[in-house]
Amino acid sequence: MTPLPKQKMTKARGRKRRSHEALTKVTLTECPQCGSKKLPHQVCHTCGTYKGQQVLVIAAKKTK
Ligand SMILES: [Zn+2]
Repeated sequence: MTPLPKQKMTKARGRKRRSHEALTKVTLTECPQCGSKKLPHQVCHTCGTYKGQQVLVIAAKKTK
């Protein structure tokens, strides 16, 4: 026997619970060095800079 709900779940009750399930949009800022979109307070993955300083060595782009 599969477990069965004792009471009917009303539409409103289910919807009220799902009112907290919305996803938040990812905030993206522009890199001051290369202008590509990046996450705020994080190293740019395109040029490897943070606060104008080179912190990562980005390997040259692969050519297809
Ligand atoms: Zn950049």
